[in-house]
Amino acid sequence: VENINITFGKGENKTTAIKNVTLSIEQGETVAIVGKSGSGKSTLLNALSGIEKLTSGKILYDNNDFSGLSEGKRAKIRLSQFGLVYQAFYLISSMNVYDNICLSVAANHGRADSEFVDHVLKELELETKRKKLPTQLSGGEKQRVAIARAIVNKPRVVFADEPTGNLDSINGEKVFQLLFQFAKEYEQTLIYVTHDMEKAQLADRVITLKDGVITSDQKKSS
Ligand code: ADP
Repeated sequence: VENINITFGKGENKTTAIKNVTLSIEQGETVAIVGKSGSGKSTLLNALSGIEKLTSGKILYDNNDFSGLSEGKRAKIRLSQFGLVYQAFYLISSMNVYDNICLSVAANHGRADSEFVDHVLKELELETKRKKLPTQLSGGEKQRVAIARAIVNKPRVVFADEPTGNLDSINGEKVFQLLFQFAKEYEQTLIYVTHDMEKAQLADRVITLKDGVITSDQKKSS
C-alpha cells in the first residue's frame, strides 16, 4: 500500500477518511486494524480488498498493480482469491445454508468441492444445519455460515469487518478461534477490523488508526 488517500464528498462535506497510508502485509500474516469509530478502519479494509476506490496512491497485490485495475478485474480477484466476512453476515435469505456457502464457488464458475464443504461444515459445527434457511439460525450460526462461505474458495486473504459485532461473547470467541484456525491451516492472510483490544491482540500485528492516519503499527515478536 503506497501512500493512499481516500476522500469522500466535496467542498464543506469533504471527509478524508484515509490519509497518506503506506504499509505492507505479508502472505500468511494476521493483522488487526483498530481505532475509534470514524477513524477509517472500514475504509482501509475496503481499500485493501479493492471495494473502495482510492482517491490517490496505489495498492499492489502480488507485486502487481491492484488499485489500477478496472472494478471488474478487481472483483474477479476478490471472488477467486479473497474471502469477506462482515458484521451483518449478508446471507441470502431465500437460500439454505449449503447453497449460501457454495454461492461464491458458483459465482466463480466452479463446482463446489463437496468433500471440502463437508469438512468446513463439520469444523464449523453446521453439519445438521445445511438445509436450514438463514432465518432459522442463531446469530452465531449465521456468522459461521458467512465464514464457511468466505473460506470455501480457499482464499489467500480473508478480510473481516467487526465479524463478532452482532454476537455474544461466547460466539464471538468461537468466530475468532475459527478465523485463526483456518488462517493457520490454509496459510491465509487474515486482516480484520475490531474495536475489541483483546481480539486485536490475537493477531501477529496491530495497526492503529486515528483520523485516517496510522498512529501505531506493532508486530508481535515471535
Ligand atoms: P471506522 O470503520 O473506523 O468507524 P470508517 O472507515 O467507516 O471508520 O469512516 C471513516 C470516515 O469516513 C468517517 O468520518 C466516515 O463518516 C467517513 N465515511 C466513510 N464512508 C463514507 C462514505 N461512503 N461517504 C462519506 N463519508 C464516509
